[in-house]
Amino acid sequence: MKVVLLAYTQGADAICAAAGKSCYSEKPSSEIREDVDSEKTLSKIVGMGHLSVVEHAVFTFSVEGVSRALTHQLVRHRIASFSQQSQRYVSLKDPTYVVPPTVKGDPEAERRFEETMDAIWKAYRDLEAMGIPAEDARYLLPNGCTTNITVTMNARELLHLFSLRCCSRAQWEIREMAERMLELCQEVSPAIFKDAGPPCVRGPCPEGRLSCGNPRRRRIS
Ligand SMILES: Cc1cc2nc3c(=O)[nH]c(=O)nc-3n(C[C@H](O)[C@H](O)[C@H](O)COP(=O)(O)OP(=O)(O)OC[C@H]3O[C@@H](n4cnc5c(N)ncnc54)[C@H](O)[C@@H]3O)c2cc1C
Repeated sequence: MKVVLLAYTQGADAICAAAGKSCYSEKPSSEIREDVDSEKTLSKIVGMGHLSVVEHAVFTFSVEGVSRALTHQLVRHRIASFSQQSQRYVSLKDPTYVVPPTVKGDPEAERRFEETMDAIWKAYRDLEAMGIPAEDARYLLPNGCTTNITVTMNARELLHLFSLRCCSRAQWEIREMAERMLELCQEVSPAIFKDAGPPCVRGPCPEGRLSCGNPRRRRIS
């Protein structure tokens, strides 16, 4: 898996902090931005639940070589824009798939997994050779098939994504993606993403009996 931050709002911390402060000031954001204490302001305003101020910051990622099982979960997040490699227009001639760690850790499971993938791809190529279009041959392809997706989200939606997907209850592959995205966001916008991550970073775990029992385990910064 590769996660690349392609583009982001320059000066996002100061822009969002100034936007928040401008709600309570005679001055406009353009004047406040110059000397605003982003961390202090955002921690107060966002802490109060005034989350719309971080919608002014937008981040675009290229998520590469992940499974369709991951992207199926990712695209459930609705306040976002996605562009995903097409299985209609891109013919996947060679086997390309993600092997879960549990499978990799068991030689017999890995053997079965790989021989099934080889059989699937052989059938896929056979159908294409018979003239079946890629858009129909793809019905054979598995959840583990790799894909590339470009995703754009504003910081409010990213905070929500990190809350759900950096939690130990999230599925391992999307959790790995979310943790990489969070690290990239914290590098460029440390104030907005200071307390980002699963709910246990900010307070008690809301998962009840499903809790991993390991509070505050994921604070990254
Ligand atoms: C551990 C885990 C297990 C899961 N298991 C399953 C499962 O078994 N089956 C399954 O189908 N899904 C499952 N999901 C997906 C989950 O149900 C959500 O679809 C997904 O996490 C997207 O989150 P969301 O709906 O909160 O927010 P987003 O789509 O990211 O939207 C952000 C927020 O905007 C608001 N919002 C967005 N759209 C609306 C709307 N139409 N009406 C009102 N408010 C809205 C909500 O406040 C929402 O939280 C799982 C997710 C996790 C993290």
